[in-house]
Amino acid sequence: MKKILPLVLLFISASVFGQNEAAIAAKADSLHKVFFTIDTHNDYAIYACHPDAEDYSVEKGQVSFPMMVEGGLDASVFAIYMGQAGRSEDSLKLAVEYGVREVTLFKEFVKQFSDYVEIAYSADDLLRIKSEGKKAVLLSLENAYMLGKDISNVQMFYDLGIRLITLCHFGDNDVCDSANGSKDEWGGLSPFGEQVVKEMNRLGMIVDLSHCSRTTVYDCLKLSTAPVVASHSGVYNYKAIPRNLTDPEMLKIAAKDGYIGLPAGRYFLSHKPKKELTVANIVDHVDYVKNLVGKEYIGLGTDFDGGAGVPGFENMSKVKEVTKEMLRRGYTDEEIECFWGKNFIRVFRAVEAKKEN
Ligand SMILES: [Zn+2]
Repeated sequence: MKKILPLVLLFISASVFGQNEAAIAAKADSLHKVFFTIDTHNDYAIYACHPDAEDYSVEKGQVSFPMMVEGGLDASVFAIYMGQAGRSEDSLKLAVEYGVREVTLFKEFVKQFSDYVEIAYSADDLLRIKSEGKKAVLLSLENAYMLGKDISNVQMFYDLGIRLITLCHFGDNDVCDSANGSKDEWGGLSPFGEQVVKEMNRLGMIVDLSHCSRTTVYDCLKLSTAPVVASHSGVYNYKAIPRNLTDPEMLKIAAKDGYIGLPAGRYFLSHKPKKELTVANIVDHVDYVKNLVGKEYIGLGTDFDGGAGVPGFENMSKVKEVTKEMLRRGYTDEEIECFWGKNFIRVFRAVEAKKEN
């Protein structure tokens, strides 16, 4: 009897846990059907455009349109990425040409899936595409290096469909100083970078501060007439790395009615080995920012295909795992709706409202 009782208790608690988990999974399914859901950063485009390329150091195959269907994810920001390279006139010319070529190639790639995938050019598009039962692609440039030093290139990329620009990547460029590898070249935004932010405001493009130095973050917060975002940045107080956001930065982004996309990669999340991490580590960052600035300013920016993923949250088909963890922690439906897309839509609309016709 002494041995049987603990076994019985174990059985009962396991079955209660199982029932709870089944209820949580069912609830997550139903929420994903109703709420608009977006992941604000992935790096799939580079692999989609160059399937045979092998010189990438990060895990790939974490993003695909079928995975978005399987996971119940309505939209994602697909970055046209270019690593920081030379700054000579010739190098800048090549960077602009590369950007144009990559956007064009990726749009051609997306066309192959036009029966259920569409490129969104506005906040209204994002919601309409979901209502039609399809998946939405929002295009971004990851690294304003691809603008070269010609301000007319901002409009040129807008006309190609880009709606969000991440101002830099690893290393300073002609627009601003970076969080990583910076020589503090400009002390924040360069004079050209100031023009770029103003031009993005004029066109209704979203200014993305992920990868930016703290000086650049504050310059953009001061200069931009529209809300700004950090599409994929974590919490500095959880992991003290240059590209994670400090409390004062997050408070200022929120005060400007902006958006912070919390990431899903070990390099943002924790000092623990990757194999010890779970989706709970991702939601720890979400909890922290929600408690600091409120539910209206948070979202998810996975960085899938850019090095992200933890055990149990390996790719885009697993996005409901985040919702399930939020439900386990007692998040309300309204908080989950805000996190998954209502916040980003609000910010995108506010940026569009600043557009000058
Ligand atoms: Zn990035």
